[in-house]
Amino acid sequence: MSSASPPPGGGKVNWELWILRAVGVGVALYIVPRWVHFLSFLVSNSRRPSREEQQLVLRSLSILEDHARSKEASITHQITLEELGGIDEQDTAAGVEPVSGAREMPMAPFWTSGSSALSSAEVELYGRQLILPQLGVAGQVRLKESSVLVVGAGGLGSPVCLYLAAAGIGRLGIMDGDAVAMTNLHRQVIHNAARCGTNKAISAKQTCQHLNKQIRIDAHDTPLTPSVAERVVPQYDVLVDCTDNPAARYLLNDAAVLFNKPVVCGSALRWEGQLWVYNYRSGPCYRCLHPQPPHRLDQSGPEGLFNALSPGGGACDMEGVIGTAPGTIGVMQAMEVLKVCGGLGDHSIGASNRMVMYDGLDAEGPFRSIRLRTKRPTCAVCGDHPSISSLQDSPDDYIDMCPADLLPPLPPSAHVKPSQLASHLHRHPPSEANLSAPPRVPPILQDDNTYQQQVGGGDGGLGAVSVVDVRPSAHYAVSHVRHSLNLPIDQILSQSKEELLARLRGPRGNNRGAPPSPVSYVVVCRRGNDSRLAVSKLRDLFQEEADDDQGGGGEGGEGREEKGCTFLNLQGGLEAVRRNVEPTEAMPLV
Ligand SMILES: [Zn+2]
Repeated sequence: MSSASPPPGGGKVNWELWILRAVGVGVALYIVPRWVHFLSFLVSNSRRPSREEQQLVLRSLSILEDHARSKEASITHQITLEELGGIDEQDTAAGVEPVSGAREMPMAPFWTSGSSALSSAEVELYGRQLILPQLGVAGQVRLKESSVLVVGAGGLGSPVCLYLAAAGIGRLGIMDGDAVAMTNLHRQVIHNAARCGTNKAISAKQTCQHLNKQIRIDAHDTPLTPSVAERVVPQYDVLVDCTDNPAARYLLNDAAVLFNKPVVCGSALRWEGQLWVYNYRSGPCYRCLHPQPPHRLDQSGPEGLFNALSPGGGACDMEGVIGTAPGTIGVMQAMEVLKVCGGLGDHSIGASNRMVMYDGLDAEGPFRSIRLRTKRPTCAVCGDHPSISSLQDSPDDYIDMCPADLLPPLPPSAHVKPSQLASHLHRHPPSEANLSAPPRVPPILQDDNTYQQQVGGGDGGLGAVSVVDVRPSAHYAVSHVRHSLNLPIDQILSQSKEELLARLRGPRGNNRGAPPSPVSYVVVCRRGNDSRLAVSKLRDLFQEEADDDQGGGGEGGEGREEKGCTFLNLQGGLEAVRRNVEPTEAMPLV
């Protein structure tokens, strides 16, 4: 038998427990709403001060300031509206304007800064670099008092502008007359896709100003011309050459010598780049090293290599460039500018008169440097008896100088207009000769009859056209005229007559390159310069001899099999044809 315990409470209602519960609920009902009210009070009082409250604080500070000035308080501390809550997007939408300038709040004279030339914001912004013993506060102040003009806001100019703005160059000028394009963005990283069509100088200024609001940035949205150079160059202390064509390089050099400005010069192409500082500390100028405008095929020796890296506009388009090549050189250009402006000129490569050369594909030593020649006494602009004393009377036509002007001239009959070729390609089926994607071109073109006469007259003559594409193989592989022959310009210039003849005939059984006589070869490239060079050589090799044979009835030879052929240059290249195509995406070009 087991004894069971009685239930708690002995089965009676525990009134004391219920009373305690009721009191607890009552207290909770009383306290919780008050806590909620109290918490909401805290939240509402932690909001950002209103515009009126901010103005009230500023007025109070102003009174304190006047009082402190009367006490000759020397140490001040800047307080801006931003520190009191700032202007956000809602304020801007409501029409609230930011307060210009900073208000000064006097503080007790227990603190002193190293230099009154740098604000608290600048000290915070540049702190990590101005603690470098070689630079220091004095060097940072020199940077702030410097002005630098960057000519060209492209692949080189992008890192130059970004790093100079970030480092605190006091006044940064950015000059460029071009607009941002999608093909720029892989290397010109200061721009973005949304700014395509915007002037590059303006786009670069926007990016840099977001990076640093403490400096002055001026956008010069114009190409460098003699009159522009005369007006703008004197305003700056140091020039940075980030251009991509010899005309601008020579013009900038002459302006630099005439106005006595050092130039930090860079160039980059393919996987390579070069860097030097000229017209600095009695060193040579650009003309001292390159008295004549470079020829694109002159690549012998270190100076020739520099020539090869600085051909005419569009070099990156034709030769190709990896984005990090101008990026690497541009960062090094910015470094040279900081040394020249920051009082560290002894450490500049300009002081030792050396050129740094970079090859991104050289695994053993991607960087090397060579010592440059000294000033050339016969230099046209900085020599003992200069012939250039003004940008207006220079022997060079800075604007029109381009590789095309260095190429041999062709007779007018040796050119085909892009509209003529586009019309011809459009009216022939893709199996015969057409673009990779069928273009749509205007059905009636004014010069079509002229074209038919040039290529032999009538439909039969049109059928005898063969297109020779002299672009590099990598460009050809992306897109090309269907059934065209790829014969890169380097091969045309280096191969023998027999080799070229074999290429033009094409492999056995392939009609490509050996159409029935009379035949017209339309030679094409991207912009019309290389094709012009190719037509000149091919005419020298084949056409004149064929003409002679035709006239004199001479003995047949290798050239005789090309008898009656003509070589025609496509003016403006495939880019010009592309402008006749709608939509342009149907004919991609690289
Ligand atoms: Zn010179």
